[in-house]
Amino acid sequence: MLVARTFAVDETQALAGALAPLLRAGDLLLLSGDLGAGKTAFTQGLGRGLGVTDPITSPTFTLANEYDGARLRVHHLDVYRMESMAEVFDVDLPDLLDDDAVVVIEWGEAIVASVPADYLAVELLLGDGDDDRVLHLRAVGPSWARRWAYVESATSPWRGGDSAPC
Ligand code: ADP
Ligand code: MG
Repeated sequence: MLVARTFAVDETQALAGALAPLLRAGDLLLLSGDLGAGKTAFTQGLGRGLGVTDPITSPTFTLANEYDGARLRVHHLDVYRMESMAEVFDVDLPDLLDDDAVVVIEWGEAIVASVPADYLAVELLLGDGDDDRVLHLRAVGPSWARRWAYVESATSPWRGGDSAPC
């Protein structure tokens, strides 16, 4: 697992954007963390990095939003507020993953069992200050494990040591 820290919303967006060059069609990212932790902000940065020009907003009233990027589409799901697993299963996840697209799912915690076991897990936690966030990035499954060195180097500006932003 890799731990990164950000101190403003645009830093979280920049970190996410730095991951964009690593993304490939069929990638799945699972974002967890409390409401207001920055899951949507992270998705916005990722989209920007992929060349999405439409504003990415919380998919509150629709289950999934779709955005065209320069290289890949982004399917953005927010299952944080879903009442039941049934609502999630209404989404054909394999179909979304098979669409020259990256699938980003915001959620709480409970439904990990219902997705393929190959994804980048990003947990966002509130830090001490209002704008401080701690991000835990974890490779689950082979495709992200193989890319881990790239994930480390892409996120190095937001990790400890001398390169930490101040
Ligand atoms: P979520 O989707 O997890 O509910 P949002 O991304 O919608 O959260 O909201 C995060 C809120 O926190 C935004 O208002 C954003 O401006 C604010 N914020 C402050 N600091 C940060 C930070 N370091 N990273 C992400 N968001 C931050
Ligand atoms: Mg959100």
